[in-house]
Amino acid sequence: MPRHNNRDRRATPVPRSIGAHRVEPGPAGYEIDHHVRTISASAAVKNYLCPGCNQSIVVGVAHVVAWPVTDRDGEDRRHWHTGCWRGRATRTGYR
Ligand SMILES: [Zn+2]
Repeated sequence: MPRHNNRDRRATPVPRSIGAHRVEPGPAGYEIDHHVRTISASAAVKNYLCPGCNQSIVVGVAHVVAWPVTDRDGEDRRHWHTGCWRGRATRTGYR
């Protein structure tokens, strides 16, 4: 009987400090899986510029933050409107 030992094939472990999040495919033009974390409205305490639409995400609006799985420290985190993140695969101009 063949063995299916997939446990040893896992990608880089995720630091615990990141908290609840998921991994999703990255945006168009940035084909790296991304960690994605949902920011609740109460946790949205700063304005951010959404890379999907270049509009600001204002305080108090629930959104998502995403960063490449290759970025272990999360220094390249970007805040996106939830809708822009969902539509990222079909967007162009992401930088
Ligand atoms: Zn946006």
